[in-house]
Amino acid sequence: MNYSFFDIHSHLHDKSFDEDRDYIIDDMKNKNIGTILVGSDITESKKAVALAELHDNLYATVGLHPTDNMEEIFHEHISEYKELLKSKKVVAIGECGLDYYRLQEDPGNPRAILDEKLRQKIIFDAQIKLALEVNKPLMVHGRPSKGKMDAYEDMLELLENYEEKHGEKLQGNAHFFVGNIEIAKRFIDIGFTMSFSGVITFASEYEEVVRFIPLEHIHAETDSPYATPVPNRGKRNDPRNVKDVVAKIAEIKGEAGEKVREQLLKNARRTFGI
Ligand SMILES: [Zn+2]
Repeated sequence: MNYSFFDIHSHLHDKSFDEDRDYIIDDMKNKNIGTILVGSDITESKKAVALAELHDNLYATVGLHPTDNMEEIFHEHISEYKELLKSKKVVAIGECGLDYYRLQEDPGNPRAILDEKLRQKIIFDAQIKLALEVNKPLMVHGRPSKGKMDAYEDMLELLENYEEKHGEKLQGNAHFFVGNIEIAKRFIDIGFTMSFSGVITFASEYEEVVRFIPLEHIHAETDSPYATPVPNRGKRNDPRNVKDVVAKIAEIKGEAGEKVREQLLKNARRTFGI
């Protein structure tokens, strides 16, 4: 399809769109906007694939988020995930990764944090292996604890190890990127892209890193229904707002909007084969 804009990460299959999802998808088709519906556990992954199967401009990922559903035992569902992977509309594995944002020291149980980090690493590792097995990129979710880069450092340690063994076969995107320049460099070194959300339209702390990352390594996303960009901040987000993220990336980089729009479409085609 000849897209005008492409939102590489949304949750349009989320229940918050049950009332008007069909209207939004129709309007996206009229405006030539596409998106990837991101799975966060087995239930959401099934919903994402089923919806993507119905519409040309929708794609899906399947995987388990590090903290969205802490009850799910990934290994018990591997065959179901593999079944979903038979769909041609599945373009990546994830969202998977490490999320240390809400980890809290428990003085009575100093092992608790270690155990939780280990749980997340085991699930992430299994999904990296799956991505290599089926030859698909990873949709990576990383969120460090406040004031640190810890989750990114741990993820990169794992990813760099796999990259050493598998080279270019390992591909992926660090979604909702909140890392610094040092972290960005390491993702670029392993051939990964980084995507930015509506947050860059109202928080200035990402400008330096957006300016640093070569445009070829950047994607725009909405993470709908969350993270609504200016000027619609405060309302529910949807993939049509990705244009505001693209415009902000162009503004920060001091590049022509049209050039950035076209390059980001190229990037989406290259990374996800859409
Ligand atoms: Zn997401």
